[in-house]
Amino acid sequence: MSYTYLFGPVASRRLGLSLGVDIVPAKVCNLNCVYCECGKTTVLSAERKEWAPPLAIIAELSDFLATSPKLDVVTITGSGEPTLNTGIDAVVSFVKQSFPGYTTALLTNGTLLSLPEVRRAAHLFDCVLPSLDAVSDETFSKVNRPLRGLDSAAIIAGIAQFAREYKGRLWLEVFIVPGVNDSLNELALLKGAILSIAPGRVQLNTLDRPGASASVRPATTAELLDIANFLRPAPVEIISRAYTAPAASVGDSALASTILATLRRRPCTVEDLAVTTGRPINDTASALSLLVKRGGVSVRIVAGDRFYGAA
Ligand code: SF4
Repeated sequence: MSYTYLFGPVASRRLGLSLGVDIVPAKVCNLNCVYCECGKTTVLSAERKEWAPPLAIIAELSDFLATSPKLDVVTITGSGEPTLNTGIDAVVSFVKQSFPGYTTALLTNGTLLSLPEVRRAAHLFDCVLPSLDAVSDETFSKVNRPLRGLDSAAIIAGIAQFAREYKGRLWLEVFIVPGVNDSLNELALLKGAILSIAPGRVQLNTLDRPGASASVRPATTAELLDIANFLRPAPVEIISRAYTAPAASVGDSALASTILATLRRRPCTVEDLAVTTGRPINDTASALSLLVKRGGVSVRIVAGDRFYGAA
């Protein structure tokens, strides 16, 4: 079976070996973050509906998980914001009921946790990872470029309410864009919001692959360490690219298509792709150079690293 909604397993920096379940098409989101690795938002929308059919997603999950793949987590995400899909409850409930051995995680921008129906869906996951990059309206506009009408105070209140109710693991991601959301004033506001949410972890992130805006640069290690120290006593960690054990290896006939399916979702290094394909770096690099020659894959250098993307 070829998959439209599943991708990976990929080596997730935050979750380990993760099967991605992409429940919103590219690129539907209510934000248009400057750092977004899925590129610019093309459908800026807060409409909740079945952006992808839950029964089709469930059929793919049923097929893939029936092979008992080695995974750390099944991650509901999207080439956009997954909580916009009203079928999210059905998808996660299916995994919990039919494959209870797998951990489930939700990657979300957190903006819709103010809605009771979205909080109800999020409660079904073992792990929820919302984002919070800004508190002031001015910085929220600059870093997340939201749909008109979204209000950061209401978003923070929604995340905090969910955090009070939720019994699973709640890890808050803060994405640092130097010169945009790292002023002393914004960091003080962020610290106050983080302490009111009281997540199990605060994960500081920065650009390590091409984002939506070419003007964004990654924060340096020294900058991230300073910010982490400033935000303490919040439980801050700096997340860096890490690799986990390889997935089951992909055969020669599926190597190029697996690489292309992964690159359509996010830019990757050859090392990322070697983990996803479970093939040695040399094999993966050879398949990549063929794809580059044929024009299906492009290359960009970011912060000294070579990233491949779908052309
Ligand atoms: S980073 Fe997430 S929230 Fe921001 S634009 Fe991309 S998909 Fe949307």
